Amino acid sequence: MSGNPQLVPLEAKSPFELRVHLGKGVSDTDVRTALATGDMGFLHSFTTGSTVDGPGVRVVGWTTGCHWRCQYCHNPDTWTLSNGIPVTIDRATEELSKYRHGLKIMSGGFTLSGGEPLMQDRFAIKLFTSAKKMGIHTALDTNGSLGSRLSDGELEQIDLVILDIKMWDPQRHRQLTGMDNGPVLDFARRLAERGRSMWVRLVLVPGLTDDAENVTQIAKFAASLGNVERVDVLPFHQMGRFKWKELKLNYTLGDVEPPSVEIVERASSQFRSEGLKAV
Ligand code: SF4
Repeated sequence: MSGNPQLVPLEAKSPFELRVHLGKGVSDTDVRTALATGDMGFLHSFTTGSTVDGPGVRVVGWTTGCHWRCQYCHNPDTWTLSNGIPVTIDRATEELSKYRHGLKIMSGGFTLSGGEPLMQDRFAIKLFTSAKKMGIHTALDTNGSLGSRLSDGELEQIDLVILDIKMWDPQRHRQLTGMDNGPVLDFARRLAERGRSMWVRLVLVPGLTDDAENVTQIAKFAASLGNVERVDVLPFHQMGRFKWKELKLNYTLGDVEPPSVEIVERASSQFRSEGLKAV
């Protein structure tokens, strides 16, 4: 899908809709201003009705922009900032306000995901602050690498951080994502020190992240923090494969099957044996 961003609805049925080039017309100066002020952000879409991206039923804002290149990424169209719809903070807030009463009734809230939402940290904080003013529960789904962009005060605007820990071994992490995991683990420790609520996510990819050693190390680390309320073990799937093809990217996992029920249960039980709630 491409064209005039004004004609593209912000709402999507799911983040698996392919969206590209929707912010191409925005000048470099306006992009820089947007990133510095947060007065405008770039969004793949808003989706509604999620029950997996935080407690209760969630509205999810999917941001564009990510500096990682995970081999299993389901949404590579969100890597590029300019693939997103340019949305003023007022428009995003207005969109969110439509759901405020429903979200309260369903004990849900608003989750910002991506992409990596903290690539647009000023916009993220402005949107979370608006949500909090409306009494909406807020969650950030993040790879954690840019957590240092947020002040301690800004962290207070985020009720829950859903932290993706993708791999324990630093070298394997670089191979999987292209980046170091040190800042991710530092952010997790900082959230723990400040007593912020956290969920941990691990995408289980056969042959890449599902080995018992990787899961054990992540489980021990998560358990040591003391603030991890829940762990989501997410089975790898192929719903994003078509995006890699459409974007002419080199997808190396085309033949990888989702993990078996037994492997997912083994990983979940590894987290449970460290005293964590794993679903
Ligand atoms: S951090 Fe998330 S959005 Fe970025 S490449 Fe990895 S899976 Fe994709």
